[in-house]
Amino acid sequence: MNCPYCGWEESKVVDSRPKEDTIKRRRECIKCGSRFTTFEIVEKPQLMVEKKGGTLESFDRDKLMKGVYTAMKKRPVPIDRINSIADYVESYFANEQRNVARSKEIGALVMSRLREIDPIAYIRFASVYEDFTDVDSFVAIISELGHKPAGEDPENIIKTKGDEENE
Ligand SMILES: [Zn+2]
Repeated sequence: MNCPYCGWEESKVVDSRPKEDTIKRRRECIKCGSRFTTFEIVEKPQLMVEKKGGTLESFDRDKLMKGVYTAMKKRPVPIDRINSIADYVESYFANEQRNVARSKEIGALVMSRLREIDPIAYIRFASVYEDFTDVDSFVAIISELGHKPAGEDPENIIKTKGDEENE
């Protein structure tokens, strides 16, 4: 890290303050004595996703959230709660000290969160994820929820899904 004042390469650390996964360091240039600040960030290991057939690709948080946002469309859920789902998925595998997740596991984790946050979004996400092709699958997952979601019956949900596909 070169001194921003004189460009010298060497500096000594005069103060170090860790905060969550960043460390703020106060440095002093060995040559000119100027003080400056650097930030160190802990690099999290990249989570890989094993797809059907065994190919690996890096976990794409944006892609996952796109699917979740679609499921959450017009649902009264704060954006922070929605974003917390991706955090949950990432920290789940970090806690397990695993760098490779199967896409099925990720889907299951997302669904378990959605189920708590919003039953309608849960059903929508599941319908895409599980690739439901008939009404029976919807009925099965709804009865699995233990109750019919308030204000919407399965027919409406199917209609909504059809509308979205036509957009
Ligand atoms: Zn300097």
